[in-house]
Amino acid sequence: MNDIPGRPGAPLLSVTGLSAGYGEMPVLRDVSLEVNRAEIVALVGSNGAGKTTLLRALSRIIPCTGRIVFGELDLMPMTPDEAFGAGLVQVPEGRQLFDRMTVEDNLLMGAYRRTDKAAIAQDMERMYGLFPRLGERRRQLAGSMSGGEQQMCAMARGLMARPQLLMIDEMSLGLAPVVVEQLMQVLATIRGEGVTVLLVEQDVHLALSGADRGYVMETGTIVQGGPAGELIDDPGVRKAYLGL
Ligand code: ATP
Repeated sequence: MNDIPGRPGAPLLSVTGLSAGYGEMPVLRDVSLEVNRAEIVALVGSNGAGKTTLLRALSRIIPCTGRIVFGELDLMPMTPDEAFGAGLVQVPEGRQLFDRMTVEDNLLMGAYRRTDKAAIAQDMERMYGLFPRLGERRRQLAGSMSGGEQQMCAMARGLMARPQLLMIDEMSLGLAPVVVEQLMQVLATIRGEGVTVLLVEQDVHLALSGADRGYVMETGTIVQGGPAGELIDDPGVRKAYLGL
């Protein structure tokens, strides 16, 4: 694991004045947010608000301006591979598994930068403990599994990298509530083990219910942020996102 110094609760990710877009089209404007160690932070907002674009900028997949500090590292000059190596790992929307590879091989892909064979084997068993369904299906082709199982596989693949920060894009999309509940429990478990989570969701109630803090994004800017419980009770959030 990458050992970024810091105590629980100290900022792990600090984003300041980040702007990004696609070609000439601006999408994100002056985004600032913070994710502290071992917390679950929800980034919520409607379809098209710019949430995925922010994750792409943080993963250094698209260019951006502003400041991104991760632990004590400046992410701005990094390539996606370097950011991944620093411990910032994204579980993409739509899973993007290697469909024709087994669950086991997908998990190994998550550990591709690691050389500690014994620890990799231990982590695989840990994943099968976190997600027993994956253990039962370890030799099954990933593309042949249900949507929920594929999401588990994508999350386990991300965890195999031993991330400092796991950024999960639309974890719940298209999944049955009972499966989503299991996944939320896994997030609480890994948070307890020191993994920090940035959860990007259109399902505002779900994300805020399982998070410590949250940010609301609208048309490329952060319009609100605070403790998740306060955001759920906020009249503006309730009206705009919870239909209440
Ligand atoms: P969703 O939940 O639907 O993914 P989102 O909040 O993640 O929504 P983004 O996917 O970041 O939103 O999209 C923000 C804006 O950027 C949208 O207007 C979208 O059309 C645009 N956009 C996204 N990807 C690209 C791309 N590759 N090229 C050009 N424009 C893009």
